Amino acid sequence: MLDRRQILAMLGTTALASLAPSALLAATSIKPDDASALLVIDVQNCFLPGGSLAVKEGEQVVPVINKISKAFANVVMTQDWHTPGHVSFASVHSGKKPFETVDLPYGKQVLWPDHCVQGTDGAALSKDLAIPHAELIIRKGFHKNVDSYSAFLEADGKTSTGLAGYLKGRKIKRVFVAGLATDFCVAWTALDARKAGFEVYVVEDACRGIDTQGSLAKAWADMAKAGVKRIQSADIAAGA
Ligand SMILES: [Zn+2]
Repeated sequence: MLDRRQILAMLGTTALASLAPSALLAATSIKPDDASALLVIDVQNCFLPGGSLAVKEGEQVVPVINKISKAFANVVMTQDWHTPGHVSFASVHSGKKPFETVDLPYGKQVLWPDHCVQGTDGAALSKDLAIPHAELIIRKGFHKNVDSYSAFLEADGKTSTGLAGYLKGRKIKRVFVAGLATDFCVAWTALDARKAGFEVYVVEDACRGIDTQGSLAKAWADMAKAGVKRIQSADIAAGA
């Protein structure tokens, strides 16, 4: 004979068993497939604590990115890669300070401290990144007179980095963007990925922003308008 407690326990188990599948379905769980790529943007020493253009809490993205990268068969990393005396450096514009703007032939340019100069330690990818299966490292911003926040197009809006062609050649349809900084290189990359026809997700907790003059809120608004999906790392199903 079952007593009341045993019956309740059984009912509880049954109820849980019947609930579990729908609870799992209800949760947003995205499983990256072979047509998905993770784009790891600019996780470089200059943008990390101690760097010349350190993004607040920038180091916190590293373990998150390492973790989600395991769910992706395809990973591309980017490296901001400037010439000495690059046009985006405040130091080359007399009387200008970092975070001020200047008008360049291609539009308004925010000026930055010198950062990510080609071949320097500051330009190196963080040694704490653990993504040995990354397939491509794309360097950007290497033309002295043009900046390139985006991994797809330089700031003149027309010079391609070749990334869209690479991804399309690899039959990638969906890109997930993570890294530094949310409101500049991540956002511009995400927006250009949309323009190039990709489905785009930005993994919010795998990014950190600079947030100068309202740039972070504006970036999220622009991305939402462009159809970029804002997700969290926990939304991505763990990899094998
Ligand atoms: Zn730069």
